[in-house]
Amino acid sequence: MLIKERDISPDLIITELKEKSVLTVLNMSGNDKELQHALTLNESFESNGIKLFHAAGIHPHEAEKASDDYTWIRNSSSKILAIGEVGLDFHYDFSPEKDQEKVFRSMIELSIELEKPIIIHGRSAEKRAVDIIKEYGNDLNVLFHCYTGDMETALEIIETGWLISFSGILTFKKSTDFHEILKTIGISKILFETDSPFLAPVPFRGKVNTPAKVFHVYDFASKLLEIDINDLAKTVSDNFDKFFGVK
Ligand SMILES: [Zn+2]
Repeated sequence: MLIKERDISPDLIITELKEKSVLTVLNMSGNDKELQHALTLNESFESNGIKLFHAAGIHPHEAEKASDDYTWIRNSSSKILAIGEVGLDFHYDFSPEKDQEKVFRSMIELSIELEKPIIIHGRSAEKRAVDIIKEYGNDLNVLFHCYTGDMETALEIIETGWLISFSGILTFKKSTDFHEILKTIGISKILFETDSPFLAPVPFRGKVNTPAKVFHVYDFASKLLEIDINDLAKTVSDNFDKFFGVK
């Protein structure tokens, strides 16, 4: 839970979530230490009526320095819902692209081995990520998180039966391309997220993001699509349950 590094207490996160009726959280862990810490929070979330789910995987930023021993993911397989976030980031290129691709392939193979959906971080590399995953067949359950790619790749993702998740970026004024993508693909294959602690939505830009602020992504999208926010929330919640095989 990266939010821990921002000194935000789980109690505050839970209080905010309850205030906004956000009752499902999916946390991503990039190493064993993060995952084990995140797992200790299950009880306090659950006792407040909030489901806390977990994903684990090697982020492309870490590809160069990460160990290729993935025992920690295998050992926690029963406690995680998905492999993620994994993929490619050719925007920041914090790790050499060759290393990113190697680790990404290992993560795809792990998702097949453990029979888990895979959550993709594909910044400025969405199409390349799609092509690599397709080398492994079309049967994988794939979610492109925090989507900022183009329309063509978005349509390919949806047509393949995969999902796209939009973050607070959707609420930014300059995000007209992503507004068009959302309007075009509709709501049957989408999720919303905060990507906290990053990317706080309007009206919190520049501040630390917290999970409950996903409310503002829903609020924005419901106005953009002219759909009642409760109907939108119900559909997206069903999409989540179906994709991750929960409930
Ligand atoms: Zn990401």
